[in-house]
Amino acid sequence: MRIDSPKTRLKRDLRRLFRNMDFTCRRNDERFAEIYLQLGWAWEFLALQCRHWDGFRRTREGHDACRICGKIKGTDDGWFLFPSKGPVTLGQKRFPHKRRDCPDKKAAMIDAGTIRFHGAKLSVEVHDGYKTNWPGSKHAMNIAADRIVRVIEGDVECWLDSHLVHVKWKRPDGRRRKPVYGGFPWELPKKLLRKFPVILEHADRGRLVGVNILISPHPRRKR
Ligand SMILES: [Zn+2]
Repeated sequence: MRIDSPKTRLKRDLRRLFRNMDFTCRRNDERFAEIYLQLGWAWEFLALQCRHWDGFRRTREGHDACRICGKIKGTDDGWFLFPSKGPVTLGQKRFPHKRRDCPDKKAAMIDAGTIRFHGAKLSVEVHDGYKTNWPGSKHAMNIAADRIVRVIEGDVECWLDSHLVHVKWKRPDGRRRKPVYGGFPWELPKKLLRKFPVILEHADRGRLVGVNILISPHPRRKR
């Protein structure tokens, strides 16, 4: 299957939209006026994705308009669905009900969603406590209520929940999975510790305030 470039796709979408707008504006009817307004919003939304790849043409009024989306050069980007400046807000921050246990995962789920944003993947899952079976067995286990946030960028995944901040690297496919070991720093031999490019940040009285992991260029890592 051929995958269109963003420019080709946008050009096609805009062409369709302009055709619909032409059709709608010729009807002298209140309902069509409403539809025309909606199409105008769609136009604005699509134009936000345009990088004005083909340059600008001079209009009769003497402005420079984008050859693809029709945006006038130098005007501020409007917005309806997402702001073009400042942070994008989608959804609300919700927390589980600590004292509620549900019969299954479906009933316990409060929020679950994933967004891919400029190449990074963000998942949020908020659920109450529920019971489930161990994989491949009939023994039930309790899953505690939690709010889990995962950010995945390239091969690195950062997992955050109420008890843990876990950063891990995706292991290369096609290799036999070797066991992973772990331990507190004081449990590991110094010889091993020297290999880990990890800096622990602490404030007065030894309170941990940050962990830095230096990423060195690695042949297996993909960007
Ligand atoms: Zn444009």
